[in-house]
Amino acid sequence: MPKSAKLSGIKSLRCYTISEAADVSGVSDRTIRAWIKQGLTAMTDERPTLVRGDVLISYIQVQRQGRKSRLSPDEFYCLKCREARKPAGGLVDCEKDGTRAKLTAMCEVCDTIMHRPIAQERVAALNDFFDLTLRGEASETSKAGS
Ligand SMILES: [Zn+2]
Repeated sequence: MPKSAKLSGIKSLRCYTISEAADVSGVSDRTIRAWIKQGLTAMTDERPTLVRGDVLISYIQVQRQGRKSRLSPDEFYCLKCREARKPAGGLVDCEKDGTRAKLTAMCEVCDTIMHRPIAQERVAALNDFFDLTLRGEASETSKAGS
């Protein structure tokens, strides 16, 4: 089991270097770098790269939340509400990405754009829940034809 990050020592008004952020949240430097790649907002223009305490805290909170609450097939995780939400109007965009597909929808509560990756073979089943708009399909068909 990987050690889980802790929040108690992180000061929201401070900026941390990668190794300070790792120290204070109890994870490795590598984990912090991985988080930055996965979307943790860092000031990468700065040397060294700095991460704001409050940003780090909310990133860890969202991660915990995501682990705790498994999404139903018709739900997305809204980063702003920090809860599972249904897409506004049931409208979902589906963009193919190799064997995966990326779903995009708008939170029915706060209008924030929500994303959710999904395995390609599960896309068809989504038509039961959503008003699905497929993207990338057309270009693939024309490629196959030529
Ligand atoms: Zn929301």
